[in-house]
Parts: sequence; structure tokens; C-alpha cells
Amino acid sequence: MQNLHNETLAVHAGSRKDDAFGAINEPIYMTSNYRIPTDGTPVDWSGTHSNIYARNRNVNQMILQDKLCALTGAEDCAVFASGVAALTGVFIPFLNSGDHAVVSEVCYSATNLLFREYLPKKYNIEVTFVDGTDTEAVRKAIRPNTKLIHIETPGNPTTGIADIETIAKIAHDAGALLSVDATFAGPICIKPLSLGADLEIHSMTKYINGHGDSLGGCVLGRTELLEKVKDIAMVNFGGVLSPFNTWIITRGLKTLPLRMAQHSKVALAVARFLESCPAVRFVWYPGLESHPQHERAKKMMHGQYSGMISFDIIGDEKAHEKFLDSLKLVTHAVSLGDIESLIVYYDKTSDKLPHYPEIYREGFFRFSIGLENEEDLIEDLTQAMKNAGVL
Ligand SMILES: *Cc1c(COP(=O)(O)O)cnc(C)c1O
Repeated sequence: MQNLHNETLAVHAGSRKDDAFGAINEPIYMTSNYRIPTDGTPVDWSGTHSNIYARNRNVNQMILQDKLCALTGAEDCAVFASGVAALTGVFIPFLNSGDHAVVSEVCYSATNLLFREYLPKKYNIEVTFVDGTDTEAVRKAIRPNTKLIHIETPGNPTTGIADIETIAKIAHDAGALLSVDATFAGPICIKPLSLGADLEIHSMTKYINGHGDSLGGCVLGRTELLEKVKDIAMVNFGGVLSPFNTWIITRGLKTLPLRMAQHSKVALAVARFLESCPAVRFVWYPGLESHPQHERAKKMMHGQYSGMISFDIIGDEKAHEKFLDSLKLVTHAVSLGDIESLIVYYDKTSDKLPHYPEIYREGFFRFSIGLENEEDLIEDLTQAMKNAGVL
């Protein structure tokens, strides 16, 4: 399947023929146990290379993992019950007591809490938070015991873009690994592994599934690293993805390349509208020339900049609330990457604001563009701004 394109791989890669009945779609293997050979073949009870028990390996997982490998060029993949389980599936196996990690300041809330509270206090792991978009700051944060650099690109919620290629070199020169949470772009718009990252992580709850009906997470990388992720995090920490949710996510993944093309096209049009709108205080979208790391994004994202925008409108708290309340097609909700547009408001009281660039500290919106038509979304934003009295 080496020379096939993403659209084809998303549909066909990993599929297993149903020899029993000839079903076109893979069955959901709702089984916790598998028959084990009685011919004297030795059985590795904790192994992940044969079907023994569904926490070690299961058939639906294998299909999804193979599809993800085909789309990312990874040698191996492990899927988990949530994006956070996938993140801990990297942090736990690759950090030991006394190790140091460099982590981007702009990151998902669980990543932030894990590295600020739990990992240092419970497991004696040293952490330096840095602006991941500032490559020199990453370099300066390296210590002799640095074992992991973890960055998010694009950053949630700012859409800041880190220079993965240079940071990978910094990590490798220091004898450390680079893990990249690329949830905001999904595995189509950015290819962290091909830029030198050792581990690529996604919350599959977002773009990969895309339909807002299942949680899930994945870790991708070299076989040697994934063996550790599977042995430690999957088998012994146990946050595995159920066969049913695996099947749902596999179905979602089949249309990922098509969805990312639409998300990217609509988001660029909406971002351009916001940029030209007098009611808008600022807008960041990696596809806009005005984005602080647009040149980097242009090199890394190949013309598809995903569907995530952050912006703010001019006006007081009441105007912001009225704007949200007036939106008809766009729902005020957390999560992102769904087929429908979702927006979330970080108001001035949010304790996350100090971690973000200056312009974000007065409050802002994180906007996940769905698959709707761009004219309809722009119309919805316009009427909501007018209703809020800011336009
Ligand atoms: C949502 C998200 C996660 C966590 O994923 P869950 O599936 O909710 O556990 C991790 N990283 C980023 C960037 C996210 O947006």
C-alpha cells in the first residue's frame, strides 16, 4: 500500500477480509477472550503479538492501528480509550523518577496538570515549561537529564506552530525523545513523524473520529518505542479502547482526508472574513499570512491548515455572551474536530490565560470549524455580531 494516496489508504488500509461470511464491513469483535492454542505452543500472557485477551490485542484495534500507520508512515501504533490515556501512554513509559521533561506552555489542560502537579509530585519528574514556538527557548531548557520534549502543534487553543524538525534535532542531540500532540491538525494536515518526531499523539475524539460520538486516543512511532507503550501503558495501565468504539472511530477515519480538505477550505474563508471584520480584535489561523508562524505552517502543512481558529471580538463581557447566545449554526461547547462547528469562550477569569501569548489574556474564542458551507457560517457570525451590538 506504499504508493497509494491518503483518500485510498483511509478507505482500504488495514481492512481484514471476513472469510466466514464475506461481509464488506469489518465485524465488531465483541469478545474479551480469544481461544489459545492447545498444541503446546508457549503462551505469553502479557504479550501483544497474539490474540489472547482484548487488553493485550484485539482484532478491531489491529484494523484501526494499521490504517493509522498507513496514513502517517508510522511503523506501529497503539490506540487508547481517550486522548489523555494516549498522552499518559507516552509520559509513563518514557519518563522515570529523576528525569527532566521540556513541555510547551500552550498545551491541553490534562497535559498541563500532569506536568505541573502529578508527575513532579508523585513521580519526582522535573519539568520546564517553555514557549514551544520559540525554538531557542526549547534549546535553552535542555538539561543533562532531559529525556522527553513534549510539544503541541498546532497548540490548543492558540494554534501556535512549533518547528518540529529543529526541535527533533535538539531532542536527539540531547539523547531525548520528541513527542508531538498533533490533535489540532489530525494526521493529514501535519506529519510530525516525517519531520523527525519520535512519537505522534492524537486525541481521536477530535478529527480522526470526527463525528463527536466516541472518545479515543492513539500513539504512533517506531516499533521499538511502541513495544514499550503497549507493554506498559496498554497491558499494564489498561486504558484500552473498546472494540465498539474502535469500530466507530475506524468508520470515521475512512473519510478523514475528505473532511480535512473541507475543514481547511471553510476555515480559511472564515478566518479571512474575521480578519477583515471591524468587530474582531484579533484572529490566529495558521493559513493566514498574518499568523505569527505562518511561514513555518506553510512548510509543514502543505496548504491544508485544519479547522481550528482562535479570535476575539471587540466589546465587553456582555457583548461576548450575547454574541455566543445569538449564534444559530455554531454551538457553544468544548471538544473540536466535529462535523458541526463548535465554539468555546475563554473568559477573563480563565486560569489558563497566563500561559498564553499576551493578546489572548483579555479572553478569546476557540472556534472549531465544521463541515458547513463557509457562506452560511459567515452569515451566522455576522448576524450574531450585529445582535451583540459589535458590528
Ligand atoms: C482533546 C485533546 C486531548 C485529550 O483528548 P481526550 O480524547 O479528550 O482525552 C489531548 N490533546 C489535545 C490537543 C486535545 O485537544
